[in-house]
Amino acid sequence: MENNYSKNNINDIQVAERKYIKSNRLLKFKIIFFLTPVFLFLVSIFWLRYQKVFAYRSSNSISDQKLLGHLPYKEISKNNLIEVQPNILVHKDMYSSLMKMKYEAQKEGVFLVFLSGYRSIKLQEEIFYSLKAARNQIAIERAKVSAPPGYSEHSTGFAIDIGDAQNRKTDFEVEFEDTRAFQWLKRNAAKYHFRLSFDKNHKSVDYEPWHWRYEGSIDALKIFEKANRENIFF
Ligand SMILES: [Zn+2]
Repeated sequence: MENNYSKNNINDIQVAERKYIKSNRLLKFKIIFFLTPVFLFLVSIFWLRYQKVFAYRSSNSISDQKLLGHLPYKEISKNNLIEVQPNILVHKDMYSSLMKMKYEAQKEGVFLVFLSGYRSIKLQEEIFYSLKAARNQIAIERAKVSAPPGYSEHSTGFAIDIGDAQNRKTDFEVEFEDTRAFQWLKRNAAKYHFRLSFDKNHKSVDYEPWHWRYEGSIDALKIFEKANRENIFF
């Protein structure tokens, strides 16, 4: 009954109206056909923008963990330290790479000297506050050249300050970049899994050509993951 009723209903529609319905369907089809790519295009634009916002947010959350431009680092257990030079300790995982790098440089007539390796948070505290006071600096000025206690890569045992044994007056100076030691490191350090931590493009810490960090183990990479991630976004 219902079928008959609906059939009758269609036949009841005037021919002109039927054409109108057909052309209306065609119009709808055309709209869908042309609007779908536009819609997909807009969705992809939105997605790309959203990803950027997400990336910005995640890098911003890294910034929130920073203190005066430095990321927090835990102090490594003393059991993991080994002496690389008198009074200079480093993480045992980077010992052989560091010594190999020194040895290979020496074979090319370049003499590397290690200036500072592991530093306890206590020692970092003394360095930060005593130099800050001696130089009459406010914390934010001091932080440009020295990390606050608890925020130094040196606490991890994976950071090493390097000088040129034949040019000691450039120790801890930007002029170290003109030495043969630095030029050699720039060319070769990555072979031994070392990289400069604070290059000329670093946002909050001044350029430190003498300060290198080790990234040759998963543990070290995990420790410096935030620092590396931040480097990608800025
Ligand atoms: Zn350093």
